[in-house]
Amino acid sequence: MKKVRVRFAPSPTGYLHVGNARTALFNWLFARQNKGVYILRVEDTDIERSEREYEDRLIKDLRWLGLDWDEGPDKGGDFGPYRQSLRMDPYNEYADALIDQGKAYYCFCSPEELKKEREKAFSRGSTPVYSGRCRDLPIRESKQRVKAGEEAVVRLLTPDKGILTFHDMVRGSLSFQLSLIGDPVLIRSNGIPSYNYAVVIDDALMKISHVIRGEDHIINTVKQLLLYTALGFAPPQFAHLSMVMGKDNTRLSKRHGATSVYQFSQQGILSSALFNYLALLGWSPPDGREVLSKNELIEGFDLTKASRSAAIFDYDKLYWINRQHIKMLTDKEKAEKIFVELKKAGYLPDSLDHKQWQWLEKAATPLSKGINTFSDIKEKFSVFFIFSPETMTAEARKVIETDCGRKVVTALDEKLNREKEINFDRLSVISRDIKKDTGCKGKDLFHPLRVALTAQISGLGLDTFIPLVEEGSQLSFPVPIKGCAQRAAEISCFIRGT
Ligand code: GLU
Repeated sequence: MKKVRVRFAPSPTGYLHVGNARTALFNWLFARQNKGVYILRVEDTDIERSEREYEDRLIKDLRWLGLDWDEGPDKGGDFGPYRQSLRMDPYNEYADALIDQGKAYYCFCSPEELKKEREKAFSRGSTPVYSGRCRDLPIRESKQRVKAGEEAVVRLLTPDKGILTFHDMVRGSLSFQLSLIGDPVLIRSNGIPSYNYAVVIDDALMKISHVIRGEDHIINTVKQLLLYTALGFAPPQFAHLSMVMGKDNTRLSKRHGATSVYQFSQQGILSSALFNYLALLGWSPPDGREVLSKNELIEGFDLTKASRSAAIFDYDKLYWINRQHIKMLTDKEKAEKIFVELKKAGYLPDSLDHKQWQWLEKAATPLSKGINTFSDIKEKFSVFFIFSPETMTAEARKVIETDCGRKVVTALDEKLNREKEINFDRLSVISRDIKKDTGCKGKDLFHPLRVALTAQISGLGLDTFIPLVEEGSQLSFPVPIKGCAQRAAEISCFIRGT
């Protein structure tokens, strides 16, 4: 195979959509697997919609996702510049050459005339195709009109009939009737190159070997292949990926939920999980495994086995994959993620001392069990930081307002008052004593105990909770953690008042 050089060519007109991120990722996997070169090219010729801010965000989001590139606007390279707005010279040079060779021509048809032609075609029920009215204008005359300031676009002269066939690495052989294509615009009347033209000049000059992109570009590929022929450049190989859709089979959009890489990163999805999920969006490994590392994906990925049918974005599956990736993190890695969230929530200070980190690392694994993303972690930690009889749920109140509930809570308060330090073994002894003293057992004993210490009726096992809450109560946090004795005292005081 020719030296692999692939590119991701986003237009900086918005946040990085997961559909585009999937394209970026497939290109990256293909490049890395073939020891090729991965290029980032910014297609910013749509001056009105392109913004530098989007480009900066895009670069950050691609990096966050774990992609790196060998050539790009921020990195340079031998084939730069890598931002289309800086590449006007080659666009103009090749367009002039095509005009001089009679392969392209100036078209003076006004937008109104073209609109009329299109409407006529629609009313006949046929596909609008540019009539080719300006094809035969003598070049010298056209050049003079342009020089005199008349508005014109440059169009490629294309065959009126015939069939164009190309091989798509995903879809196999594809054929198109040229009579339906029309002469594509290369340079607009404001001097800006069209997408189809700029992309061919860039792909050719950057020696791109494979163009991997969404299937919405298939018809553009036909126009681009005609351009390769006119320019005398060898075309790359093409692979068109199926579209990313919502479960209702419409293009994935805001209506379905989060759609940009940035949104998912803000939701606390791990980049390794989004990477893993996007790789499975329209491709799956032959052994059916779904939780895969970056290296396993580089090794196993097979572009030619990408799916031809729509890739359905399944949020539940993404969360499931995220949960699997959370499990694979070390305690330290989990603690670091949790720290960010709890700092945001105001539970933790801007920096932690050694003992606080140790506490957080011990809490990290039990507390992150079952969370979809780290944004859910605040809720889990509230059992430490928020404890108040007033905020108890009705169910929890019911538990302690029974006869046994009152007796157990009062006894627990009295006993903990006398204890210096409490751990789970000690609580087991105490609860046996309470059982003896009050005659309450089973649910009637354990439910009130749990509520007295956590103000909740379910959650972490007390064997995990007690050491963490006791240790946490010795540390100084912006929101102090109350220890077991204080908790039991507050609940006991509360029921005395009811
Ligand atoms: N700028 C184009 C887009 O974002 C690139 C398409 C292509 O890969 O050629 O759709």
